[in-house]
Amino acid sequence: MAEYTKPLPVPSPETQPFWDACARRELTLPFCTACAQFFFYPRAFCPRCFGDAIEWRRCTGRGTLYTFAIQYRPQMIGFTPPYVTAIVQLEEGPRMMTTLVGVTPSPEAIRCDMPVEVTWEQASDEITLPLFRPAG
Ligand SMILES: [Zn+2]
Repeated sequence: MAEYTKPLPVPSPETQPFWDACARRELTLPFCTACAQFFFYPRAFCPRCFGDAIEWRRCTGRGTLYTFAIQYRPQMIGFTPPYVTAIVQLEEGPRMMTTLVGVTPSPEAIRCDMPVEVTWEQASDEITLPLFRPAG
């Protein structure tokens, strides 16, 4: 594996199940069994009812592009512009910040509400990142 030069997430007790699932290339979200709602980012308590009846459920990995920004200037070590930062509206409800890949980073090629799907980048032995690409 080529050396990964971008900053890596550091799992916390609340996010470790998310990263463990990503390592299996499964996108999961915390689900409140009291509200019957998914939420994201991971927390110990439901952001709606503050209950702790939380379980992890696998998601489809599909959604739509909620918004995006094409980054033309180097701002972070390891990121080579242009690249596309994005917020994806997941089918399950929550929105997730990510990077949009597999598309020309130009305003002509990307539009809000376009269907997207998860794809994976193994960054290290422990961390596999969920990225999104236009749905095939
Ligand atoms: Zn709840």
